Order: sequence, then structure tokens, then C-alpha cells
Amino acid sequence: MRIVILGPPGSGKGTQAAMLVEELGVPHISTGALLRNAAKRGTALGLQAKAITDKGELVPDDIMSDMIEERLSRVDVANGFLLDGYPRTVTQAKSLDAMLARLGKPVQEALHIDVDPELIIKRIAKRAKEEGRSDDTVETVRNRMRVYAEQTAPVADYYENQGLLTRVLGDGNKEEILQRILSVLKVNATID
Ligand code: AMP
Repeated sequence: MRIVILGPPGSGKGTQAAMLVEELGVPHISTGALLRNAAKRGTALGLQAKAITDKGELVPDDIMSDMIEERLSRVDVANGFLLDGYPRTVTQAKSLDAMLARLGKPVQEALHIDVDPELIIKRIAKRAKEEGRSDDTVETVRNRMRVYAEQTAPVADYYENQGLLTRVLGDGNKEEILQRILSVLKVNATID
């Protein structure tokens, strides 16, 4: 199954994606994690991207599309994938559609995790302590929320217009949210 998971920063989409792939047996492809790994390894692309992610801005679409195209060319995606953090702009969504159309394997399901902004600030403060992510400062988070509203929220509309989007309530504990997502996938026959 080929699934895209969307949600504002701190919506818990990364946590849910990690739990979901355990259930679904497909690879978890997180572009944020790919960028953080590249920065840790000190590659030119990683360092260039870190300067952008630390401000809460988006890495340019062409860089991201090349990165995802390379990732989707690997053999482990034969049975599907869960994309977390990509696409983040409508341009990326169109480029993903074109890539998958060439493979004859379109996106089957787009999930959007809905959360209250108050909860987001609390969760991100907690994550900043636990994971020490350099883009989890209050100022950067504010910027990431603005960037999300301006550039990524339209991606949810893009999938909604294709009849592929389901919104899932992201409050409660992570097990409850996971069960909500699994029932959506069952109802939509994305999994049996
Ligand atoms: P995430 O781990 O998904 O929250 O991503 C962390 C940061 O990486 C984002 O705030 C962006 O700066 C950058 N990033 C991740 N995925 C993308 C993408 N698809 N397009 C542009 N920037 C991205």
C-alpha cells in the first residue's frame, strides 16, 4: 500500500508513521529524517539543508524531489511505502504523482492528522527536551507552523480534490490515534 501522512509540526505524524509501518510492513520514508542523517554525515547537501531547516523553512522542491525519486527507486518499496514529510508543497505533490504514474503505482491514501495548535506547542516543547532537535526552538516552530499553513495545508486540499484524503483526530494517546488510523485504512480498504 502506498500512503502519504500529513500533519502540522508536532501533530505526531512521525510517531504514528513509525508505529504504522510496524503494522503494515512497508518502509517508513521520512524526508526530515533523511535530511537530518545527511546533515549528521556532513554531506554538502546535508549542511546546505540544515541551514534551511534550522530556520523552519522548506528545502527547495527540486532537491527534495531528487531525494525522494532516489529513495523510491530502491527495491524495498516494491510492496508500498509510508511517506512522512513529503510532499510538503503542491509542486512536490505533482512531482510525486508524475513519478508514481511512471511506475503505475499511484498514491492510494492520504491521511491528515488534525491537532489543536495549543497541543502542538506542548508536544514540541517536550520533543525539544527529549530529542534535542535543532529546529524545535519556539521561534522556529512558529515559522514552521506558518510555512505549514501557507505551503503544506494546500497539499491536503490537493489530495482531498482527488478523493484520497481522510482527516484523523490527533488528540488522545498514541495508541488511540494509531487505532483510529488503522480503522480508516480498513474502511477505505487500503488494508484488509
Ligand atoms: P520533519 O521531520 O518532517 O518535521 O522535517 C523537518 C524539516 O525538514 C522541515 O521543517 C523542513 O525544513 C525539512 N523538510 C522535510 N521534508 C521536506 C520536504 N518534503 N520539503 C521541504 N523541506 C522538507
